[in-house]
Amino acid sequence: MEKLQESMYQLIVETSTNLPNDVRRAIAEAKAKENAGTRAALSLSTITENIKMADENISPICQDTGMPTFEIKVPVGVNQIEMKKAIYAAIEQATKDGKLRPNSVDSLTGKNSGNNLGEGTPVIHFEQWEEDYIDARLILKGGGCENKNIQYSLPAELEGLGRAGRDLDGIRKCIMHSVYQAQGQGCSAGFIGVGIGGDRTTSYSLAKEQLFRKVDDVNPNDDLRKLEEYVLENANKLGIGTMGFGGEATLLGCKVGAMNRLPASFFVSVAYNCWAFRRLGVELDAETGEIKKWLYKDGERVDLNEVASQVAATAETTEVREVVLEAPVTEEQIRELKVGDVVIINGMLHTGRDAIHHHLMDHDAPIDLDGQIIYHCGPVMLQDDAGDWHVKAAGPTTSIREEPYQGDIMKKFGIRAVIGKGGMGPKTLKALQEHGGVYLNAIGGAAQYYADCIKKVKGVDLMEFGIPEAMWHLEVEGFAAIVTMDSHGNSLHEDVDKSSLEKLEQFAEKVF
Ligand code: SF4
Repeated sequence: MEKLQESMYQLIVETSTNLPNDVRRAIAEAKAKENAGTRAALSLSTITENIKMADENISPICQDTGMPTFEIKVPVGVNQIEMKKAIYAAIEQATKDGKLRPNSVDSLTGKNSGNNLGEGTPVIHFEQWEEDYIDARLILKGGGCENKNIQYSLPAELEGLGRAGRDLDGIRKCIMHSVYQAQGQGCSAGFIGVGIGGDRTTSYSLAKEQLFRKVDDVNPNDDLRKLEEYVLENANKLGIGTMGFGGEATLLGCKVGAMNRLPASFFVSVAYNCWAFRRLGVELDAETGEIKKWLYKDGERVDLNEVASQVAATAETTEVREVVLEAPVTEEQIRELKVGDVVIINGMLHTGRDAIHHHLMDHDAPIDLDGQIIYHCGPVMLQDDAGDWHVKAAGPTTSIREEPYQGDIMKKFGIRAVIGKGGMGPKTLKALQEHGGVYLNAIGGAAQYYADCIKKVKGVDLMEFGIPEAMWHLEVEGFAAIVTMDSHGNSLHEDVDKSSLEKLEQFAEKVF
Protein backbone atom coordinates (compact mmCIF):
# COMPACT_ATOMS: atom_id res chain seq x y z
CA MET A 1 0.00 0.00 0.00
CA GLU A 2 2.91 2.34 -0.75
CA LYS A 3 0.61 4.69 -2.71
CA LEU A 4 -2.03 4.98 0.00
CA GLN A 5 -0.82 8.14 1.72
CA GLU A 6 -0.47 9.94 -1.60
CA SER A 7 -3.97 8.83 -2.64
CA MET A 8 -5.44 10.03 0.65
CA TYR A 9 -3.65 13.37 0.23
CA GLN A 10 -5.19 13.74 -3.24
CA LEU A 11 -8.62 12.88 -1.90
CA ILE A 12 -8.31 15.49 0.86
CA VAL A 13 -7.04 18.25 -1.44
CA GLU A 14 -9.65 17.57 -4.12
CA THR A 15 -12.45 17.48 -1.57
CA SER A 16 -11.35 20.77 -0.02
CA THR A 17 -10.88 22.65 -3.29
CA ASN A 18 -13.17 21.16 -5.93
CA LEU A 19 -16.94 20.72 -5.55
CA PRO A 20 -18.46 17.52 -6.99
CA ASN A 21 -20.45 17.69 -10.22
CA ASP A 22 -23.84 16.83 -8.71
CA VAL A 23 -23.49 19.73 -6.25
CA ARG A 24 -22.44 22.09 -9.06
CA ARG A 25 -25.51 21.14 -11.07
CA ALA A 26 -27.80 21.83 -8.07
CA ILE A 27 -26.20 25.26 -7.52
CA ALA A 28 -26.50 26.07 -11.24
CA GLU A 29 -30.20 25.25 -11.17
CA ALA A 30 -30.73 27.53 -8.16
CA LYS A 31 -28.80 30.36 -9.78
CA ALA A 32 -30.91 30.16 -12.92
CA LYS A 33 -34.15 30.39 -10.91
CA GLU A 34 -33.20 33.38 -8.76
CA ASN A 35 -34.50 36.84 -9.69
CA ALA A 36 -31.73 38.88 -11.29
CA GLY A 37 -30.68 41.98 -9.35
CA THR A 38 -31.71 40.69 -5.91
CA ARG A 39 -29.46 40.20 -2.88
CA ALA A 40 -29.90 36.45 -3.32
CA ALA A 41 -28.77 36.61 -6.96
CA LEU A 42 -25.76 38.72 -5.98
CA SER A 43 -24.87 36.17 -3.29
CA LEU A 44 -25.14 33.24 -5.69
CA SER A 45 -22.90 35.04 -8.17
CA THR A 46 -20.29 35.54 -5.44
CA ILE A 47 -20.58 31.87 -4.50
CA THR A 48 -20.09 30.67 -8.08
CA GLU A 49 -17.16 33.05 -8.58
CA ASN A 50 -15.66 31.65 -5.38
CA ILE A 51 -16.06 28.05 -6.60
CA LYS A 52 -14.22 28.94 -9.79
CA MET A 53 -11.39 30.65 -7.89
CA ALA A 54 -10.97 27.63 -5.61
CA ASP A 55 -10.73 25.41 -8.71
CA GLU A 56 -8.13 27.60 -10.33
CA ASN A 57 -5.99 28.25 -7.25
CA ILE A 58 -6.38 24.71 -5.83
CA SER A 59 -7.27 26.48 -2.58
CA PRO A 60 -9.94 25.71 0.02
CA ILE A 61 -13.48 26.53 -1.16
CA CYS A 62 -14.28 27.64 2.37
CA GLN A 63 -11.88 28.58 5.17
CA ASP A 64 -13.74 26.29 7.57
CA THR A 65 -12.23 22.88 7.00
CA GLY A 66 -14.99 21.36 9.11
CA MET A 67 -14.78 17.91 10.60
CA PRO A 68 -13.01 15.59 8.15
CA THR A 69 -15.14 12.43 8.15
CA PHE A 70 -14.03 9.33 6.23
CA GLU A 71 -16.35 6.43 5.39
CA ILE A 72 -14.23 3.51 4.21
CA LYS A 73 -15.17 0.04 2.98
CA VAL A 74 -12.34 -2.48 2.86
CA PRO A 75 -11.97 -6.09 1.71
CA VAL A 76 -11.15 -8.66 4.40
CA GLY A 77 -7.43 -8.59 5.15
CA VAL A 78 -6.73 -4.87 4.64
CA ASN A 79 -4.76 -3.45 7.55
CA GLN A 80 -6.92 -0.71 9.03
CA ILE A 81 -4.23 0.44 11.45
CA GLU A 82 -1.89 1.17 8.54
CA MET A 83 -4.71 2.92 6.70
CA LYS A 84 -5.34 5.19 9.68
CA LYS A 85 -1.67 6.10 9.85
CA ALA A 86 -1.66 7.01 6.14
CA ILE A 87 -4.76 9.19 6.62
CA TYR A 88 -3.23 10.98 9.62
CA ALA A 89 -0.05 11.70 7.66
CA ALA A 90 -2.04 12.96 4.66
CA ILE A 91 -4.19 15.23 6.87
CA GLU A 92 -1.09 16.68 8.49
CA GLN A 93 0.53 17.35 5.12
CA ALA A 94 -2.61 18.95 3.66
CA THR A 95 -2.80 21.25 6.70
CA LYS A 96 0.85 22.21 6.31
CA ASP A 97 0.21 23.01 2.64
CA GLY A 98 -2.71 25.33 3.46
CA LYS A 99 -5.33 23.04 1.92
CA LEU A 100 -6.99 22.59 5.32
CA ARG A 101 -7.21 25.08 8.18
CA PRO A 102 -5.95 23.87 11.57
CA ASN A 103 -9.34 23.05 13.01
CA SER A 104 -8.91 20.60 15.87
CA VAL A 105 -9.24 22.27 19.25
CA ASP A 106 -8.83 20.76 22.73
CA SER A 107 -12.31 21.07 24.24
CA LEU A 108 -11.01 21.82 27.72
CA THR A 109 -7.98 24.05 27.15
CA GLY A 110 -9.05 25.60 23.81
CA LYS A 111 -5.61 24.82 22.36
CA ASN A 112 -5.52 24.19 18.62
CA SER A 113 -3.46 21.09 17.79
CA GLY A 114 -2.21 22.90 14.67
CA ASN A 115 -2.28 19.84 12.41
CA ASN A 116 -5.93 18.74 12.38
CA LEU A 117 -5.10 15.69 14.47
CA GLY A 118 -6.30 15.06 17.99
CA GLU A 119 -8.74 13.13 20.10
CA GLY A 120 -11.67 12.36 17.75
CA THR A 121 -10.16 14.17 14.74
CA PRO A 122 -10.42 13.10 11.97
CA VAL A 123 -13.43 10.79 12.11
CA ILE A 124 -12.75 7.48 10.35
CA HIS A 125 -15.38 4.74 10.01
CA PHE A 126 -14.36 1.37 8.58
CA GLU A 127 -16.62 -1.36 7.32
CA GLN A 128 -15.66 -4.66 5.71
CA TRP A 129 -17.20 -5.73 2.45
CA GLU A 130 -16.92 -8.51 -0.09
CA GLU A 131 -15.52 -6.47 -3.01
CA ASP A 132 -11.80 -6.69 -3.75
CA TYR A 133 -11.15 -2.93 -3.74
CA ILE A 134 -11.31 -0.11 -1.16
CA ASP A 135 -14.04 2.50 -1.32
CA ALA A 136 -12.97 5.67 0.58
CA ARG A 137 -15.26 8.68 0.85
CA LEU A 138 -14.65 11.97 2.62
CA ILE A 139 -16.89 14.81 3.68
CA LEU A 140 -15.68 18.15 5.07
CA LYS A 141 -18.67 19.60 6.88
CA GLY A 142 -18.15 23.00 8.44
CA GLY A 143 -19.06 24.18 11.92
CA GLY A 144 -21.56 26.79 10.71
CA CYS A 145 -23.86 24.21 9.18
CA GLU A 146 -23.03 21.56 11.80
CA ASN A 147 -24.45 23.95 14.40
CA LYS A 148 -27.73 23.96 12.48
CA ASN A 149 -28.20 20.18 12.76
CA ILE A 150 -31.25 19.36 14.80
CA GLN A 151 -32.81 16.28 16.39
CA TYR A 152 -36.52 15.82 17.17
CA SER A 153 -38.07 13.32 19.53
CA LEU A 154 -41.61 12.53 18.46
CA PRO A 155 -44.29 13.34 19.37
CA ALA A 156 -43.36 17.03 19.52
CA GLU A 157 -44.93 20.49 19.38
CA LEU A 158 -43.30 22.49 16.60
CA GLU A 159 -43.39 26.24 16.19
CA GLY A 160 -45.61 27.17 13.25
CA LEU A 161 -46.63 23.56 12.57
CA GLY A 162 -48.30 22.34 15.73
CA ARG A 163 -48.20 18.72 16.83
CA ALA A 164 -45.91 16.31 14.99
CA GLY A 165 -46.97 12.72 15.64
CA ARG A 166 -45.12 9.42 15.32
CA ASP A 167 -45.89 8.92 11.63
CA LEU A 168 -44.75 10.01 8.17
CA ASP A 169 -46.60 13.29 8.47
CA GLY A 170 -44.91 14.03 11.80
CA ILE A 171 -41.57 13.38 10.11
CA ARG A 172 -42.54 15.74 7.29
CA LYS A 173 -43.24 18.49 9.82
CA CYS A 174 -39.87 17.95 11.53
CA ILE A 175 -38.00 18.30 8.25
CA MET A 176 -39.88 21.43 7.22
CA HIS A 177 -39.21 22.88 10.66
CA SER A 178 -35.50 22.03 10.41
CA VAL A 179 -35.17 24.20 7.31
CA TYR A 180 -37.09 27.04 8.95
CA GLN A 181 -34.99 26.99 12.12
CA ALA A 182 -31.73 27.09 10.14
CA GLN A 183 -32.79 30.45 8.66
CA GLY A 184 -30.09 30.13 6.03
CA GLN A 185 -27.43 30.52 8.72
CA GLY A 186 -25.51 27.37 7.85
CA CYS A 187 -24.73 29.12 4.55
CA SER A 188 -27.78 28.30 2.50
CA ALA A 189 -28.71 27.34 -0.12
CA GLY A 190 -28.10 23.99 1.56
CA PHE A 191 -28.57 20.24 1.50
CA ILE A 192 -30.09 18.08 4.23
CA GLY A 193 -29.64 14.48 5.22
CA VAL A 194 -32.37 13.04 7.45
CA GLY A 195 -32.18 9.98 9.71
CA ILE A 196 -35.41 8.44 10.99
CA GLY A 197 -35.32 6.00 13.93
CA GLY A 198 -32.34 4.47 15.70
CA ASP A 199 -31.18 5.86 19.04
CA ARG A 200 -29.99 9.44 19.46
CA THR A 201 -26.49 8.62 18.19
CA THR A 202 -27.29 6.30 15.28
CA SER A 203 -30.11 8.57 14.14
CA TYR A 204 -27.61 11.42 13.67
CA SER A 205 -25.13 9.06 12.00
CA LEU A 206 -27.81 7.93 9.56
CA ALA A 207 -28.63 11.57 8.77
CA LYS A 208 -24.99 12.32 7.98
CA GLU A 209 -24.69 9.16 5.89
CA GLN A 210 -27.47 10.47 3.63
CA LEU A 211 -25.14 13.30 2.64
CA PHE A 212 -23.00 10.71 0.86
CA ARG A 213 -25.88 10.01 -1.51
CA LYS A 214 -25.81 11.82 -4.84
CA VAL A 215 -27.99 14.90 -5.03
CA ASP A 216 -29.86 13.52 -8.05
CA ASP A 217 -30.33 9.89 -6.95
CA VAL A 218 -33.82 8.47 -6.40
CA ASN A 219 -34.80 6.90 -3.09
CA PRO A 220 -35.82 3.24 -3.66
CA ASN A 221 -38.38 3.48 -0.84
CA ASP A 222 -41.50 5.02 -2.36
CA ASP A 223 -42.66 6.79 0.82
CA LEU A 224 -39.25 8.30 1.41
CA ARG A 225 -38.95 9.32 -2.24
CA LYS A 226 -42.25 11.19 -2.01
CA LEU A 227 -41.15 12.80 1.24
CA GLU A 228 -37.85 13.96 -0.29
CA GLU A 229 -39.65 15.44 -3.30
CA TYR A 230 -42.24 17.16 -1.10
CA VAL A 231 -39.63 18.77 1.13
CA LEU A 232 -37.47 19.95 -1.74
CA GLU A 233 -40.42 21.60 -3.43
CA ASN A 234 -42.02 23.16 -0.38
CA ALA A 235 -39.03 24.20 1.71
CA ASN A 236 -38.15 26.53 -1.14
CA LYS A 237 -41.51 28.26 -0.65
CA LEU A 238 -40.44 29.50 2.79
CA GLY A 239 -38.62 32.44 1.17
CA ILE A 240 -35.50 32.18 3.36
CA GLY A 241 -33.16 32.18 0.38
CA THR A 242 -29.41 32.21 -0.04
CA MET A 243 -27.66 33.33 3.17
CA GLY A 244 -31.12 33.96 4.67
CA PHE A 245 -31.43 37.16 2.57
CA GLY A 246 -34.83 36.06 1.24
CA GLY A 247 -35.29 34.50 -2.19
CA GLU A 248 -36.19 31.39 -4.11
CA ALA A 249 -33.30 29.01 -3.33
CA THR A 250 -33.17 27.76 0.26
CA LEU A 251 -32.74 24.02 -0.16
CA LEU A 252 -30.89 22.23 -2.96
CA GLY A 253 -31.23 18.62 -1.86
CA CYS A 254 -33.06 16.41 0.65
CA LYS A 255 -32.13 12.77 1.32
CA VAL A 256 -33.96 10.65 3.87
CA GLY A 257 -33.02 7.28 5.37
CA ALA A 258 -34.83 5.14 7.94
CA MET A 259 -33.75 2.47 10.42
CA ASN A 260 -35.51 0.54 13.16
CA ARG A 261 -36.08 2.19 16.52
CA LEU A 262 -36.93 1.24 20.07
CA PRO A 263 -40.66 1.11 20.80
CA ALA A 264 -40.27 3.97 23.29
CA SER A 265 -38.18 6.28 21.06
CA PHE A 266 -38.85 8.03 17.77
CA PHE A 267 -36.03 10.28 16.64
CA VAL A 268 -35.83 12.34 13.49
CA SER A 269 -32.36 13.84 12.99
CA VAL A 270 -31.38 16.38 10.38
CA ALA A 271 -27.82 16.98 9.23
CA TYR A 272 -27.66 20.35 7.51
CA ASN A 273 -24.94 21.00 4.95
CA CYS A 274 -24.06 24.35 3.42
CA TRP A 275 -23.67 25.08 -0.31
CA ALA A 276 -19.95 24.30 0.13
CA PHE A 277 -20.91 20.63 0.09
CA ARG A 278 -17.43 19.15 -0.02
CA ARG A 279 -17.62 15.41 -0.40
CA LEU A 280 -15.75 13.20 -2.78
CA GLY A 281 -14.64 9.59 -2.92
CA VAL A 282 -12.19 7.23 -4.56
CA GLU A 283 -11.93 3.55 -5.35
CA LEU A 284 -8.49 2.27 -4.42
CA ASP A 285 -6.46 -0.78 -5.38
CA ALA A 286 -6.39 -2.85 -2.17
CA GLU A 287 -2.81 -4.02 -2.87
CA THR A 288 -1.12 -0.72 -3.76
CA GLY A 289 -3.49 1.95 -2.44
CA GLU A 290 -3.50 3.58 -5.88
CA ILE A 291 -6.59 5.54 -7.04
CA LYS A 292 -8.53 3.56 -9.66
CA LYS A 293 -11.58 5.75 -9.95
CA TRP A 294 -12.99 9.04 -8.62
CA LEU A 295 -16.55 9.11 -7.27
CA TYR A 296 -19.09 11.96 -7.62
CA LYS A 297 -17.27 13.31 -10.65
CA ASP A 298 -19.52 11.80 -13.29
CA GLY A 299 -22.17 13.57 -15.33
CA GLU A 300 -22.14 17.06 -16.78
CA ARG A 301 -19.72 19.53 -15.20
CA VAL A 302 -21.43 22.90 -15.56
CA ASP A 303 -19.51 26.14 -15.78
CA LEU A 304 -21.30 27.94 -12.98
CA ASN A 305 -20.24 31.37 -14.14
CA GLU A 306 -21.97 30.87 -17.45
CA VAL A 307 -25.29 30.22 -15.76
CA ALA A 308 -27.36 33.40 -15.80
CA SER A 309 -30.60 34.11 -14.01
CA GLN A 310 -33.55 33.25 -16.21
CA VAL A 311 -35.73 35.64 -14.27
CA ALA A 312 -35.34 39.24 -15.42
CA ALA A 313 -34.54 42.01 -12.99
CA THR A 314 -37.41 44.37 -12.21
CA ALA A 315 -37.31 47.97 -11.03
CA GLU A 316 -38.00 46.67 -7.54
CA THR A 317 -35.26 44.03 -7.48
CA THR A 318 -32.51 46.25 -8.90
CA GLU A 319 -32.80 48.89 -6.22
CA VAL A 320 -29.57 47.97 -4.48
CA ARG A 321 -27.66 51.03 -3.24
CA GLU A 322 -23.89 50.78 -3.21
CA VAL A 323 -21.80 52.70 -0.67
CA VAL A 324 -18.00 52.80 -0.50
CA LEU A 325 -16.44 52.97 2.97
CA GLU A 326 -12.88 53.48 4.05
CA ALA A 327 -11.93 52.69 7.64
CA PRO A 328 -11.74 54.40 10.07
CA VAL A 329 -15.38 55.32 9.59
CA THR A 330 -17.43 57.96 11.39
CA GLU A 331 -20.71 57.62 13.21
CA GLU A 332 -22.36 59.89 10.60
CA GLN A 333 -21.29 57.59 7.74
CA ILE A 334 -22.65 54.58 9.58
CA ARG A 335 -25.97 56.19 10.47
CA GLU A 336 -26.57 56.86 6.77
CA LEU A 337 -26.51 53.15 5.97
CA LYS A 338 -29.79 51.22 5.68
CA VAL A 339 -30.65 47.53 5.59
CA GLY A 340 -30.19 46.26 2.02
CA ASP A 341 -27.31 48.60 1.09
CA VAL A 342 -24.28 46.95 -0.46
CA VAL A 343 -21.11 48.27 1.18
CA ILE A 344 -17.75 48.15 -0.56
CA ILE A 345 -14.86 48.44 1.88
CA ASN A 346 -11.38 49.70 1.09
CA GLY A 347 -8.78 50.05 3.83
CA MET A 348 -8.34 48.13 7.06
CA LEU A 349 -10.25 45.24 8.59
CA HIS A 350 -9.30 43.49 11.84
CA THR A 351 -10.33 39.90 12.43
CA GLY A 352 -11.90 38.82 15.69
CA ARG A 353 -13.57 35.56 16.64
CA ASP A 354 -14.61 33.93 19.88
CA ALA A 355 -11.27 34.14 21.72
CA ILE A 356 -10.71 37.79 20.78
CA HIS A 357 -14.20 38.86 21.83
CA HIS A 358 -13.86 37.06 25.12
CA HIS A 359 -10.43 38.62 25.65
CA LEU A 360 -11.50 42.19 24.79
CA MET A 361 -14.20 42.16 27.46
CA ASP A 362 -11.54 42.39 30.20
CA HIS A 363 -8.42 43.62 28.39
CA ASP A 364 -7.24 46.53 26.28
CA ALA A 365 -7.17 46.08 22.52
CA PRO A 366 -3.73 45.58 20.96
CA ILE A 367 -4.43 48.52 18.57
CA ASP A 368 -6.69 51.57 18.57
CA LEU A 369 -10.06 50.26 17.33
CA ASP A 370 -11.88 53.61 17.30
CA GLY A 371 -13.88 53.83 14.04
CA GLN A 372 -12.56 50.46 12.90
CA ILE A 373 -14.29 47.45 11.36
CA ILE A 374 -14.12 43.98 12.90
CA TYR A 375 -14.33 40.95 10.65
CA HIS A 376 -15.65 37.70 12.16
CA CYS A 377 -13.23 35.46 10.33
CA GLY A 378 -10.73 32.71 11.08
CA PRO A 379 -8.54 32.74 7.97
CA VAL A 380 -6.31 30.03 6.51
CA MET A 381 -2.82 31.59 6.64
CA LEU A 382 0.55 30.43 5.38
CA GLN A 383 3.91 31.90 6.36
CA ASP A 384 6.69 31.95 3.76
CA ASP A 385 10.39 31.43 4.44
CA ALA A 386 10.92 35.19 4.81
CA GLY A 387 8.34 35.23 7.60
CA ASP A 388 5.61 37.02 5.59
CA TRP A 389 2.03 35.84 5.98
CA HIS A 390 -0.28 35.05 3.06
CA VAL A 391 -4.03 34.61 3.16
CA LYS A 392 -5.19 31.34 1.60
CA ALA A 393 -8.90 31.57 2.50
CA ALA A 394 -10.85 34.19 4.44
CA GLY A 395 -14.65 33.94 4.46
CA PRO A 396 -16.88 35.08 7.35
CA THR A 397 -17.69 32.91 10.34
CA THR A 398 -21.03 32.67 12.18
CA SER A 399 -21.55 35.89 14.11
CA ILE A 400 -24.21 34.90 16.61
CA ARG A 401 -21.57 33.29 18.83
CA GLU A 402 -20.34 36.81 19.65
CA GLU A 403 -23.80 38.01 20.68
CA PRO A 404 -23.00 38.12 24.43
CA TYR A 405 -20.00 40.41 23.82
CA GLN A 406 -20.47 42.32 20.57
CA GLY A 407 -22.49 45.34 21.69
CA ASP A 408 -20.31 45.96 24.78
CA ILE A 409 -17.11 45.69 22.78
CA MET A 410 -18.32 48.06 20.08
CA LYS A 411 -19.15 50.66 22.71
CA LYS A 412 -15.98 50.10 24.75
CA PHE A 413 -13.59 50.54 21.80
CA GLY A 414 -15.62 52.72 19.41
CA ILE A 415 -15.90 50.02 16.74
CA ARG A 416 -18.38 51.14 14.07
CA ALA A 417 -19.03 48.04 12.00
CA VAL A 418 -18.80 44.27 12.24
CA ILE A 419 -18.79 41.87 9.34
CA GLY A 420 -19.80 38.25 9.65
CA LYS A 421 -22.48 35.87 8.53
CA GLY A 422 -25.92 34.83 9.72
CA GLY A 423 -26.73 38.05 11.61
CA MET A 424 -26.84 38.81 15.32
CA GLY A 425 -29.49 39.08 18.01
CA PRO A 426 -31.48 41.76 19.83
CA LYS A 427 -28.67 42.75 22.21
CA THR A 428 -26.39 43.70 19.32
CA LEU A 429 -29.23 45.35 17.40
CA LYS A 430 -29.93 47.58 20.41
CA ALA A 431 -26.24 48.45 20.73
CA LEU A 432 -26.03 49.34 17.02
CA GLN A 433 -28.89 51.77 17.54
CA GLU A 434 -27.48 53.36 20.71
CA HIS A 435 -23.86 53.54 19.62
CA GLY A 436 -24.22 54.12 15.87
CA GLY A 437 -23.03 50.85 14.44
CA VAL A 438 -23.87 48.51 11.62
CA TYR A 439 -23.78 44.76 10.94
CA LEU A 440 -22.59 43.71 7.51
CA ASN A 441 -23.34 40.24 6.21
CA ALA A 442 -20.61 38.84 3.98
CA ILE A 443 -21.28 35.80 1.80
CA GLY A 444 -20.68 32.70 3.90
CA GLY A 445 -18.15 30.30 2.48
CA ALA A 446 -16.83 32.72 -0.15
CA ALA A 447 -13.35 32.23 1.24
CA GLN A 448 -11.46 32.61 -2.04
CA TYR A 449 -13.45 35.61 -3.17
CA TYR A 450 -12.68 37.47 0.07
CA ALA A 451 -9.07 36.30 0.24
CA ASP A 452 -8.62 37.93 -3.16
CA CYS A 453 -9.89 41.24 -1.72
CA ILE A 454 -7.12 41.18 0.91
CA LYS A 455 -4.19 43.03 -0.58
CA LYS A 456 -1.83 42.98 2.38
CA VAL A 457 -1.42 41.38 5.78
CA LYS A 458 -0.30 44.37 7.87
CA GLY A 459 0.27 42.46 11.08
CA VAL A 460 -1.11 40.10 13.67
CA ASP A 461 -1.75 40.29 17.41
CA LEU A 462 -2.77 37.77 20.05
CA MET A 463 -1.23 34.88 18.15
CA GLU A 464 -1.31 32.89 21.39
CA PHE A 465 -4.94 32.09 20.52
CA GLY A 466 -3.85 30.20 17.37
CA ILE A 467 -4.05 31.17 13.69
CA PRO A 468 -7.83 31.17 13.23
CA GLU A 469 -8.46 33.03 16.52
CA ALA A 470 -5.67 35.63 16.36
CA MET A 471 -6.36 39.27 15.44
CA TRP A 472 -5.15 39.76 11.88
CA HIS A 473 -4.81 43.29 10.51
CA LEU A 474 -5.74 43.16 6.85
CA GLU A 475 -5.72 45.79 4.14
CA VAL A 476 -8.59 45.18 1.73
CA GLU A 477 -9.86 46.52 -1.55
CA GLY A 478 -13.36 46.08 -2.97
CA PHE A 479 -14.57 43.94 -0.06
CA ALA A 480 -18.36 43.68 -0.56
CA ALA A 481 -20.95 42.93 2.13
CA ILE A 482 -24.62 43.68 2.66
CA VAL A 483 -26.11 45.74 5.50
CA THR A 484 -28.49 43.38 7.26
CA MET A 485 -28.74 45.24 10.61
CA ASP A 486 -28.58 49.02 10.75
CA SER A 487 -28.43 51.77 13.37
CA HIS A 488 -32.16 52.48 12.99
CA GLY A 489 -33.30 49.26 14.64
CA ASN A 490 -33.88 47.34 11.38
CA SER A 491 -32.82 43.72 10.95
CA LEU A 492 -33.26 41.79 7.72
CA HIS A 493 -32.77 38.58 9.75
CA GLU A 494 -35.77 39.38 11.96
CA ASP A 495 -37.89 40.24 8.90
CA VAL A 496 -37.02 37.00 7.07
CA ASP A 497 -37.61 34.95 10.24
CA LYS A 498 -41.06 36.49 10.68
CA SER A 499 -42.17 36.09 7.07
CA SER A 500 -40.83 32.52 6.80
CA LEU A 501 -42.67 31.55 10.00
CA GLU A 502 -45.90 32.83 8.47
CA LYS A 503 -45.23 30.74 5.37
CA LEU A 504 -44.35 27.70 7.47
CA GLU A 505 -47.77 27.85 9.11
CA GLN A 506 -49.32 27.02 5.71
CA PHE A 507 -47.74 23.56 5.97
CA ALA A 508 -49.44 22.62 9.25
CA GLU A 509 -52.21 20.62 7.49
CA LYS A 510 -51.77 16.84 7.22
CA VAL A 511 -50.25 15.77 3.88
CA PHE A 512 -49.09 12.15 4.29
S1 SF4 B 1 -19.84 27.59 3.66
FE1 SF4 B 1 -20.49 28.41 5.64
S2 SF4 B 1 -21.28 26.69 6.84
FE2 SF4 B 1 -20.14 25.88 5.09
S3 SF4 B 1 -18.14 25.44 5.93
FE3 SF4 B 1 -18.08 27.49 5.01
S4 SF4 B 1 -18.57 28.93 6.65
FE4 SF4 B 1 -19.13 26.88 7.34
